[in-house]
Amino acid sequence: MTDDTATPPRKPKAALTQIGNRQLSPATMMMGHGYDPVLSEGSLKAPIFLTSTFAFANAAEGKHFFMGITGKRPGGSEGLVYSRFNGPNQQILEGRLSLWDGAEESLVFSSGMTAICVLFLAFCSQGDVIVHSGPLYAASEGFVAKTLSRFGVTYVDFPAGATREELDVALTKAKAQAAAQGGKVAMVYLESPANPTNALVDVEAVRDARDAVLGADYPIAIDNTFLGPLWQQPLKQGADIVVYSLTKYVGGHSDLVAGSIGGATKWMTPVRMLRNTMGGILDPHTAWMLMRSLETVELRMSRAGENAAKVCAYLKGHPKVEGLGYLGDIADPRQQDIFDRHCTGAGSTFSLYIKGGEAEAFRFLDSLKIAKLAVSLGGTETLASLPAAMTHLSVPDERKAALGITDNLVRISIGIEDADDLIADFEQALAAV
Ligand SMILES: *Cc1c(COP(=O)(O)O)cnc(C)c1O
Repeated sequence: MTDDTATPPRKPKAALTQIGNRQLSPATMMMGHGYDPVLSEGSLKAPIFLTSTFAFANAAEGKHFFMGITGKRPGGSEGLVYSRFNGPNQQILEGRLSLWDGAEESLVFSSGMTAICVLFLAFCSQGDVIVHSGPLYAASEGFVAKTLSRFGVTYVDFPAGATREELDVALTKAKAQAAAQGGKVAMVYLESPANPTNALVDVEAVRDARDAVLGADYPIAIDNTFLGPLWQQPLKQGADIVVYSLTKYVGGHSDLVAGSIGGATKWMTPVRMLRNTMGGILDPHTAWMLMRSLETVELRMSRAGENAAKVCAYLKGHPKVEGLGYLGDIADPRQQDIFDRHCTGAGSTFSLYIKGGEAEAFRFLDSLKIAKLAVSLGGTETLASLPAAMTHLSVPDERKAALGITDNLVRISIGIEDADDLIADFEQALAAV
């Protein structure tokens, strides 16, 4: 017979990662991984820990933790010290993000761009060369070309769809350039699919070229914002570091700005050390919001992907549509081959080429009723924008032409609304053109 006598105080349980031989999927683990209610008065959900500093149990513990913070002992701090270094909400979030990509560790930042800038700074020294795919997110490209160049760092770029031979040429050129500058190749930095062309980078070919030309000591980082974490996990294709603007699909509600990087501990340690120094760590409130977002990330992304497939099936062949740049309908066999090897879904962000020019595209955009006119992507709501007039307005005309950024290219991020409502909206907006 049971009675109402209080049981002794419970101890935190070990993390649940499998049942029998079954490894739990990330979608399941988003609900509780890395948090035990016993540690927080039984609160089912993690509280938001608003504190600047953490009390040590005794002086020896304080010293032990600082050995990890300062790098005197490898592997980071085993306990909480000060909120510029880490906090409970950030640690839980970092643990959950790592599950999707199979990363050993992740680090969260106050924005995608903070993550990217700290990543570059952690690996670049004077005279170094960055090899990167093109085009990159404009601010990433700008940081390399305009900011790092002031510290003697140069770059070599290659087009997103480059073949193994073209990659060998780019890396060999970068190696010679680095030798001439008295530096090294600091990093191979990728973004795939590229925005707004949706061109995919062959990460497996990049890894093979890196191994052949440079050796494995030079990290490959990739911005996985457009297809991650659900539809592409590039660490599996040989990337070493995965980068996110969590502002997009992971946050998913267009109500926060955040970023992360993830990978093996040996690559994360220098970035963690620099984050400890510079700050730029995500705040606890936004970390908490992202923990909530991650509980539905698979649901949201799956629905958005299904919606995009239906909307694109409608748009394809519409008399006022010149073409689509959609990963679910790739014309180029080599791009299709990369897609088949790297991606498990076509995403929900695509390019729509309206017949005509800027005037027709403006008419279309101004006629939309459900879709909102805004840059960004990956939210619950459908967004539409015109890169040539907005995000890529400052790109010189020749480069715009080379990248295929035309005046009639409308960028669309499909949300999780009813697909038939969205089709009705596109139908009436196209009728107005
Ligand atoms: C938005 C975005 C970024 C920058 O992220 P922020 O969170 O806005 O700083 C970087 N890369 C890609 C591909 C993006 O879409």
